[in-house]
Amino acid sequence: MEVVYSQGNIQVVIGDITEEETDAIVNAANSTLLGGGGVDGAIHRKAGPQLKEECRTLGGCPTGEAKITKGYQLKAKYVIHTVGPVWRGGNAQEDELLASCYKNSLQIAKDHGIQSISFPAISTGVYGFPKKRAAEIAVKEVKRFLEDSQLLVRFVCFDQETAQFYLEVLKSNNH
Ligand code: ADP
Repeated sequence: MEVVYSQGNIQVVIGDITEEETDAIVNAANSTLLGGGGVDGAIHRKAGPQLKEECRTLGGCPTGEAKITKGYQLKAKYVIHTVGPVWRGGNAQEDELLASCYKNSLQIAKDHGIQSISFPAISTGVYGFPKKRAAEIAVKEVKRFLEDSQLLVRFVCFDQETAQFYLEVLKSNNH
């Protein structure tokens, strides 16, 4: 886990989100909440079968919304499952839906007294959202939320390229 940026309450790290020790980690889930590939698969593998059992009781989750469960065998106490939009070219409300994922996840964290949270780059894997554009939305929503919160937010990037996009956005200071 390499910290490549740390300023105020925002950090960018390169690593595996399932290793995070923040109070909560965010899962880029699909709308069934019953598991998939990518981050979702990794989180379910590490949390153990009880996570899927709890997810089964939730009845799925619409795109842009978020639901919380316990973290089971993970180091994180909670998992906040959010469903990012599938990229369809940019005219299907993708930006707004991705922003909603961040807003709703942060609101749930606040409601549960969570003090630190780790986000993956939601929608930028199988769902195909352009990475720079996704980083801009993620940073904008987190910065807005932090105007009024002491939450520690970590952006956990699986690869160097993704981290580079976050660094560009955070250092450009336009948000
Ligand atoms: P989505 O379906 O929302 O696109 P994915 O899981 O396919 O979700 O990918 C989201 C992002 O998470 C991608 O940038 C991918 O590289 C990254 N990723 C995949 N596995 C992990 C992991 N274990 N920890 C952190 N990030 C991960």
